[in-house]
Amino acid sequence: MNESTLKKSLSKLNLGGLRWFDSIGSTNDEALAWATEGAKDLSIVAADEQTQGRGRLNRRWFTPKGSALAFSLILRPPLRPHLSRTVGLAALSIAESFAQSGLSPQIKWPNDILLNGKKTAGILVESVWSGEDVDSLVIGMGINIYKSSVPPADILQFPATSLEEILGSKPPKREEILLGILTSFIHWRERLGTDELIHAWEEALAFRGEQVEVKGGGEIPISGKVDGLESDGSLRLKDLHDNSVIVRFGDVSLRPAA
Ligand code: ADP
Repeated sequence: MNESTLKKSLSKLNLGGLRWFDSIGSTNDEALAWATEGAKDLSIVAADEQTQGRGRLNRRWFTPKGSALAFSLILRPPLRPHLSRTVGLAALSIAESFAQSGLSPQIKWPNDILLNGKKTAGILVESVWSGEDVDSLVIGMGINIYKSSVPPADILQFPATSLEEILGSKPPKREEILLGILTSFIHWRERLGTDELIHAWEEALAFRGEQVEVKGGGEIPISGKVDGLESDGSLRLKDLHDNSVIVRFGDVSLRPAA
């Protein structure tokens, strides 16, 4: 993938702009700066390598050269009043593009995509504020394409894999996967406020009916069986007494119960 193959693949889409980098610190940082300078809606920053790729809470996101699809999408204006559904919109778009390759992706709420129960893609949504208002959103997506994108096991808190490993053969080209993700994203963005979106997102949830633990910053983990989603995209668990427990967005991590 390079700038010209990327431009060619995405030419059918009505994007706001495209910036390509052979190597960059973080595509989200570049996109946040570009959004502040007035980037148009649906502008994209993509890179072949990230040297400072970020997950949530400044955790590292591993993106060695030539291994992954790493890009950030700028949304302006953001999608009020459905801001909290944006991570689901992104997750669903990645899941649909994996399904196009004959795979069975699942969404580990809120921000990871699993194949065979292993993390294959992650999402980081960040906002640009203007006073009290969100001026634009940056949605970073990191997708493990080749085996070389998978970090060493000792730095992982959750098992990881790549499309190449799961397919057992050469994966589709990165620009084709990106086209699939963006096409799905544009489709679902128009339906962001609908029940249909929540339903499709819910259908793709990992660990449905299974016991999980959700950990937040320092608090006692919340346990329960994955039941579904609330209309704002919050996760609904069922506790031991079959009562609903709602887990709001935030820097929470979901794990299967030990
Ligand atoms: P989680 O949702 O699992 O709590 P984040 O979304 O914050 O985690 O992602 C960061 C974490 O993902 C890192 O701490 C690291 O363990 C893991 N990680 C980093 N790079 C990759 C990658 N390319 N593939 C899969 N997992 C990764």
